[in-house]
Amino acid sequence: MSTAHNLGFPRIGARREMKRAVESYWKGDLDEAGLLAVGRELRARHWKLQAEAGLDLVPVGDFTWYDHVLDMSVLLGVVPQRFGDVMGNVDLKTYFRMARGRAPGDKAGSADTYACEMTKWFDTNYHYIVPEFNADQTFRIASNKLFDELAEAKALGVRAKPVLVGPLTYLWLGKTRGAAFDKLTLLEKILPAYAEMLARLKQAGVEWVQIDEPILVLDLPQAWKNAFESAYNRLQSSGVKLLLATYFGALDDNTGVACRLPVDGLHIDLVRAPQQLATVLDQLPAYKVLSLGVVDGRNIWRADLEKALAILDSVKERLGERLWIAPSCSLLHSPVDLALETKLDQEFKSWLAYATQKVAEVVALREGVDHGRASIGVMLDASRAAAQSRTTSKRIHRPDVKARAKALSASADQRHAPYAERARQQREKLKLPLLPTTTIGSFPQTQAIRSARSDFKAKRITEAEYNERMKQEITLAVRKQEEIGLDVLVHGEAERNDMVEYFGELLDGYAFSENGWVQSYGSRCVKPPIIFGDVSRPKPMTVDWTTYAQSLTQKPMKGMLSGPITMLQWSFVRDDQPRSLTALQIAFALRDEVLDLEKAGIKVVQIDEPALREGLPLRHADWAEYLRWAAQAFRVSAGAVRDDTQIHTHMCYAEFNDIIDSIAALDADVITIETSRSDMELLDAFVNFSYPNEIGPGVYDIHSPRVPTKDEIVRLMEKAAKVVPVDRLWINPDCGLKTRDWPEVETALANMVSAAKTLRERLQH
Ligand code: GLN
Ligand code: ZN
Repeated sequence: MSTAHNLGFPRIGARREMKRAVESYWKGDLDEAGLLAVGRELRARHWKLQAEAGLDLVPVGDFTWYDHVLDMSVLLGVVPQRFGDVMGNVDLKTYFRMARGRAPGDKAGSADTYACEMTKWFDTNYHYIVPEFNADQTFRIASNKLFDELAEAKALGVRAKPVLVGPLTYLWLGKTRGAAFDKLTLLEKILPAYAEMLARLKQAGVEWVQIDEPILVLDLPQAWKNAFESAYNRLQSSGVKLLLATYFGALDDNTGVACRLPVDGLHIDLVRAPQQLATVLDQLPAYKVLSLGVVDGRNIWRADLEKALAILDSVKERLGERLWIAPSCSLLHSPVDLALETKLDQEFKSWLAYATQKVAEVVALREGVDHGRASIGVMLDASRAAAQSRTTSKRIHRPDVKARAKALSASADQRHAPYAERARQQREKLKLPLLPTTTIGSFPQTQAIRSARSDFKAKRITEAEYNERMKQEITLAVRKQEEIGLDVLVHGEAERNDMVEYFGELLDGYAFSENGWVQSYGSRCVKPPIIFGDVSRPKPMTVDWTTYAQSLTQKPMKGMLSGPITMLQWSFVRDDQPRSLTALQIAFALRDEVLDLEKAGIKVVQIDEPALREGLPLRHADWAEYLRWAAQAFRVSAGAVRDDTQIHTHMCYAEFNDIIDSIAALDADVITIETSRSDMELLDAFVNFSYPNEIGPGVYDIHSPRVPTKDEIVRLMEKAAKVVPVDRLWINPDCGLKTRDWPEVETALANMVSAAKTLRERLQH
């Protein structure tokens, strides 16, 4: 018989119970005992659900109050000094101080317990809390949470498989503090703690432990590859069986390392990297279990069971009982339960599977492999019908949209003239001063805006009344910008709740779920739009708002759009065609919008791509191909305009040295970008690479309430002017201002404008 298991279940709860509990605990409305009770309830519910669905092994230790990497830090006693000396176990308050800088009951503003950093978990939109190591870091078991939860599971009769982040992945994800040192040197010290952990799990009667080492799908330095062998040699004596889990990509050059390790099983991701199966089968020693991740843990589509069974059947012949079946990765990245969707129609729902349904798919696959297809007739029929209707549905397939993307001509992604000529024409038309000032798009989302939106949603006001209120907000934003004296204005994005959702709602091919929540970080959940079909634009999306804003001023009004890669990156994307093609379809829809804006008299259009960098593949070898199609999609969206129409783009990150040539390849006339937090460190990139077009290095950090002084801005821009010719520099904040309030924004922007004046005098000699 084969084994069906799961790598991790979402912890948020189908109705985001975890979020609610944690937030009321933070507010002081729920005490610790109350919080813990909610956790117990959720775990019991999730274990029961998985066990009753028929899984042979159920993950334990995947539940967390904030983040599973933070849980590992606490389990290993890795608590930065600033949170005090922790002698015994780390308590919940320390845990939340590490996550958020404070815990309930703390006095506000104890600045020395600033939170740990947070960053993206591989190429997902989940964020983990970065472990901090110092050179004399020690490790010890400093939490009972995992062992308590294991006992809890056992008491409920669950066949538990504890889940840990493996030692190498854990060290890889951390950062060092203080004097520089190689964190790999900590391996020696961390292994005894892992060994003790495993011994305790063994003692508790555990048979299998899942140890996650997803860094095995990355390009690893040789020293790290070597370290795997010695580390797992040390851990093999614990007596528990280890299932080494890899996901999010192919093992490739790490296949040998992964297959040879002295563990009892290996999990590989066959959704992201189906091609790796043959090599892994060749290299896997005959005693090991092989777990195949055939159900997509990161997307919402119903699995094609027939296709998965074809793979599993062939492997079953070779492996027999050693075949395990699982989702590709933890289901943490999927919403919880499709049953809660009451507004999607039956056909649409038949295409989807959330975590609960994915567990059932894994079990069905085991049944199908072990007992033949007839044993899962109903599931198989539903899966076949979904696959069938997704290939033929007219809601999905639009011949006109496909034809357009297919007919992409070589010139569609090129502006007519090269930048220098465009810049000349744009200068003539826009008549901007040296060092023009602008902002990134959004202005404060005030209470007035929020209540207008909720009134409209609750049908307390009509659409006409809502539009009127939005126009008032736009008028206000324009008036303020004129008073401040900015050169290129924006309408302020009052009408947009979210930069992807807003456009998704106006495009065909997008759908929105009611309960498709996934954890982004801590208690924060997001509900990504679903791109299910060919994307097209039924009618203009932003033209009315933008022309209204333009009608209020003589200054150029910047049209504001979300770019194709960002639209893709922050959505659930269809899996029946390459992502590059979906991006291209979105690009064509935007292209029409850009042209309509131009036709309506808008002279400057910004296409935001804040997510371009996070779309980079995990393996360096795949970067060039991604960057090629991503840049092409951007150029398709921008490429049709006249030479005297100015295209801006915006990105909010500073690490861009390694992709600067691709950013140049976007061929935007102007890019505004984050630099302020790194004190213009970004500009280092320009010493070696002369960026050909115009650039606005953000002069102040909008993430902080701190208002920048004029002198500070002058100093930063003088630094910038040393590496970029001054006639190609713009002055702007480093991102949109929607999270700030007006008084702050007005002072900051006034300082920015007065810095520009000073600089113009100085730099023009
Ligand atoms: N135009 C958007 C804004 O100003 C850009 C947001 C972003 O960069 N994430 O809000
Ligand atoms: Zn930004």
